[in-house]
Amino acid sequence: RADAEKFEFQAEVSRLMDIIINSLYSNKDIFLRELISNASDALDKIRFLSLTDKEVLGEGDNTELEIQIKLDKEKKILSIRDRGIGMTKEDLIKNLGTIAKSGTSAFVEKMQTSGDLNLIGQFGVGFYSVYLVADYVEVISKHNDDKQYVWESKADGAFAISEDVWNEPLGRGTEIRLHLRDEAGEYLDEYKLKDLVKKYSEFINFPINLWASKEVEKEVPVDGDESSDEEETSETSPSEEEGDEDDSEKPEDEKKPKTKKVKETTYEWELLNDVKAIWLRNPKEVTEEEYTKFYHSLAKDFSDEKPFAWSHFNAEGDVEFKAVLFVPPKAPQDLYESYYNSKKSNLKLYVRRVFISDEFDELLPKYLSFLMGLVDSDTLPLNVSREMLQQHSSLKTIKKKLIRKALDMIRKIADEDPDESNDKDKKDVEESSADNEKKGQYTKFWNEFGKSVKLGIIEDATNRNRLAKLLRFETSKSDGKLTSLDQYISRMKAGQKDIFYITGASKEQLEKSPFLERLTKKNYEVIFFTDPVDEYLMQYLMDYEDNKFQNVSKEGLKLGKDSKAKELKESFKELTKWWKGALASDNVDDVKISNRLADTPCVVVTSKYGWSANMERIMQSQTL
Ligand code: ADP
Ligand code: MG
Repeated sequence: RADAEKFEFQAEVSRLMDIIINSLYSNKDIFLRELISNASDALDKIRFLSLTDKEVLGEGDNTELEIQIKLDKEKKILSIRDRGIGMTKEDLIKNLGTIAKSGTSAFVEKMQTSGDLNLIGQFGVGFYSVYLVADYVEVISKHNDDKQYVWESKADGAFAISEDVWNEPLGRGTEIRLHLRDEAGEYLDEYKLKDLVKKYSEFINFPINLWASKEVEKEVPVDGDESSDEEETSETSPSEEEGDEDDSEKPEDEKKPKTKKVKETTYEWELLNDVKAIWLRNPKEVTEEEYTKFYHSLAKDFSDEKPFAWSHFNAEGDVEFKAVLFVPPKAPQDLYESYYNSKKSNLKLYVRRVFISDEFDELLPKYLSFLMGLVDSDTLPLNVSREMLQQHSSLKTIKKKLIRKALDMIRKIADEDPDESNDKDKKDVEESSADNEKKGQYTKFWNEFGKSVKLGIIEDATNRNRLAKLLRFETSKSDGKLTSLDQYISRMKAGQKDIFYITGASKEQLEKSPFLERLTKKNYEVIFFTDPVDEYLMQYLMDYEDNKFQNVSKEGLKLGKDSKAKELKESFKELTKWWKGALASDNVDDVKISNRLADTPCVVVTSKYGWSANMERIMQSQTL
């Protein structure tokens, strides 16, 4: 358009578009999912605003919160329209081209190494996937606060914006028109689109309608003017015309005015999705496959990986809500890197089916921020601001229940894992295929999210014991396998009161430690804690099921009664006294006779409340 205002794409966006246009990626279908997801977001936004101000919805068709898909086979245009919040001119400039989101360069980088275009939505640049199938795109948008504008680009480094004086007024919302590339003709096929919507947009909570063609048979009088009848049928496909038997007149009808049947193509809106939200359904009726798909749509993760576990429940009582929680199959790369700075939770909050926010950090503690899911509450008020909601007293109750359910869900991964079972012999006999699928799952979970469990023990005093149950570690007897506190306790020697552990940089180093000599000789099991965070962890974890934790490199180690202890102490009194005096008292608190060693003559032990040698090492290297 000649008098349009021209803009250049921000450099990173331009690079991104080049990558997309030149991509040999075969799964081009994803553009539709991204567009529908954007339409759904825009609808969520207007619906949220309408909670406090009904006026924003306008009247008539504008109040219909829906998504419409239309095809123009001749012009090769696919358009997707929503009655969402729309974009002002400024929004169009910023959102579609000039402001690069943080994900833009991350995605470009990823695509240059081992990137999967399928992940585009996770990086917040899904819109640009339209250029997988289109060489020219128009975005027509009307926001309540502005006039209707057209954004257009041929992905040649620039885009243009002009006030829309050509198209029919949208009322409110956005229409994206894709001028399809020649090789993307398949997206003009209604069946293909129906399939895609089914596949990708099952969990969109707004109706998605397709302007679908329908063949109808119609009786028309046969008079002299047959040629015009012929024209009416011209919209049917050639194959159907060939086989059309209705063209012949039937002899019995000769007395009546002559009619004949013709096929005619009409169009009507066809609803493509079932808008009943999955979390409102009875958990017993939702299949495993449906949960997996729902997880993928929530996480914008369209790999084939299954979540480790999920929990779908309905909380009743003073505070009512429904929730679905997922343990993702993988931890995001930066989960622990930015742990203390990141605030983002992955839980979506709905109030009475209305999407409120996905940045609600009050619902889960930080250590569970790796969970994905959704909460829909009937108890929370609808017509208040986000800030007011954040302070609502029900949130505490919701949070408490969510934590419980989350920990139960994680425990179930272990409970169902045959590798975790104590009586392995029994399991070996009757190993079913379901068992096989669950086999080793907890170790996998632990490798991805174990650190979160440890951070939980540090942060969440209320649930410390529940979290401790989830702990896994290697020990001096575990033969390279992970074991749990319950298993440790079940193997404790008669008369053993304490749970023995030692901390250090690696298992190999710990196995050689003189602190272990005597314990090993006496057949005690010792836990190896080799993760830097373990030192902090053990400052919070004092006991487990009435057993105290004892660091074997610290003062206070008791290995059962030693009848000769008193005697020995007495006879070496002079030596220990001399020794204590000989060592600088700033560095050494005490010198004692010990029964913790077997071959090594003496060892330096940390005082009960002091830092262990390992902690000293960690503090010096400042790593957590
Ligand atoms: P994301 O959806 O992750 O934010 P996209 O690249 O898909 O990233 O979209 C970029 C932005 O463009 C959106 O955040 C939104 O502000 C705007 N946008 C895209 N499509 C629409 C739409 N249909 N209605 C309103 N705004 C839209
Ligand atoms: Mg998007």
